[in-house]
Amino acid sequence: MENGSETSPQSVESCHFCYGPVNSDDNHCAKCSYPLKGSDDEKAAFVLRKNADQINLPKFKNKSENALGTLYFLAGFFMLCAIIVFFQKEESADLLAILLPYLILTILFLILGSYAKQKPLACFISGLCLYIIIEVLVVAEAHFSTNFIDIIFNLIVIGFLVNGIRASLEIERIKKENDLD
Ligand SMILES: [Zn+2]
Repeated sequence: MENGSETSPQSVESCHFCYGPVNSDDNHCAKCSYPLKGSDDEKAAFVLRKNADQINLPKFKNKSENALGTLYFLAGFFMLCAIIVFFQKEESADLLAILLPYLILTILFLILGSYAKQKPLACFISGLCLYIIIEVLVVAEAHFSTNFIDIIFNLIVIGFLVNGIRASLEIERIKKENDLD
């Protein structure tokens, strides 16, 4: 090699995007995956996408926070259900059997909420599946009539969780591509 680099047998250049070191025969930057040998269009598209990621990252984080808040909200909601049921059925012989599902759901959503910081995607998916199963069971048993407010409530909860799943996928992709962590 002509340029007399002592540390590497291959010539070392720097990436045009992240200025990290790249070998002259690499197709992509190992650090940021910039298409070193790509066409001008590919390079421009890459820069546009990276800029969009920078702008969108706070939005994704916000959506992920909202989904995490939804998990805690559901824990609180089922706790509230347990309290209401407790006072309604205080006299009932099998009070504990009636209360138990609400208490279990409270604990499950608390656990999901507390793990969602480390594993947001897994926790949001689990929370969404759990919530849908509960709703299907409730509708099937027809304990509550499915009224307008129930439907709106369900749509809001499911919407926050689905947005959280999508946002955490995007955050993971951005972190991976930018070598963050
Ligand atoms: Zn790079």
